[in-house]
Amino acid sequence: MDCLFCQLIESGKLLKILESPNFVAFLDIAPRTKGQTLVVSKKHFENFESLPPELLGELNLVTQAVVKNIKSKLKAKGVSMAVNSGELAGQRIPHFALIVYPRYEEEETKGVPVGAFFKPIETNEEELTELAKKLNIKLSVSNKTLEPKKEQIISEKKSEQKEQLKEELVGKLKSRNTKKKTTRKKEYVEFV
Ligand SMILES: [Zn+2]
Repeated sequence: MDCLFCQLIESGKLLKILESPNFVAFLDIAPRTKGQTLVVSKKHFENFESLPPELLGELNLVTQAVVKNIKSKLKAKGVSMAVNSGELAGQRIPHFALIVYPRYEEEETKGVPVGAFFKPIETNEEELTELAKKLNIKLSVSNKTLEPKKEQIISEKKSEQKEQLKEELVGKLKSRNTKKKTTRKKEYVEFV
C-alpha cells in the first residue's frame, strides 16, 4: 500500500497523542498552528463518507478529547476543525483525516472562521428555498446503530438474574420466617 497515512501508522513513527481502537491522533509535522493535530482512521478509508457509520461515535469521542486536551494544555482559546474530502477540496492524502487547528490570541487570523476563504456567493430566498427542497432528505437511522450493544444486553441479563435471585431469596426468607413463627408458636404453646 503506497498510502502515506497507512505507512505511517504501520511504522509507528507518529507523534502520537491519543489512540482508540479505530483511530489515532498525532501531531502534524507541517503545522499551520502550534499543536495542529490529525485524527486519522487506523484502517484505510478514502474519505469521511466512506467511514463505516458505527465508527462515527468513536471518532467524535476521540476528536472531543483532542480538542479538550489542546485547549487546556496549550492555552488555545479557540479550536477549529476541518475535514477535506476530495482532491478538489484540498485532500492531499486519500485516507480519512480530521484536522484540529488550535487557535491563539496572538495569531493574525484570530476571530476568522476556517471557511472564511470562500467568498460569499450571490443568491436569493427563492433560490435558497429551491435548494433546500432539492437537498432535503429523510434520514433513516439503520437498525444496526439502534441495536443495543452486547455489554448492555449482558448487564440487562445480569440485572434480570439479580431480580430472580432476589425473588428466590425473599421467598426463602419468607418461608423461613413463617416456619420460625410456627415453631415459635408451637414452642409457646408447649411452654404455656
Ligand atoms: Zn491509507
